[in-house]
Amino acid sequence: MLYCPKCGNPQYCGCDECKDKIPKGIKPYKWDNTGEMLSCGKCGFTKQAEWWITLLAESYLCAVKYNEEETDPHFDNQYR
Ligand SMILES: [Zn+2]
Ligand SMILES: [Zn+2]
Repeated sequence: MLYCPKCGNPQYCGCDECKDKIPKGIKPYKWDNTGEMLSCGKCGFTKQAEWWITLLAESYLCAVKYNEEETDPHFDNQYR
């Protein structure tokens, strides 16, 4: 799982397929209209998609380290 480094909000995909899996009260991350920047749904912290993907990769490595396999495959799917 990817967390916002600023507010700690877990980042969920908000596409039609995934929106039902989002826990109540959690806002999914948002793409800007260029498709290059991603914002935290809660605090609006914005970085390039590439930066988030690096963060996700790092958090995945952490998860592997602690034996918790948790990733969001849709994060990649939405990367345009
Ligand atoms: Zn999705
Ligand atoms: Zn945030």
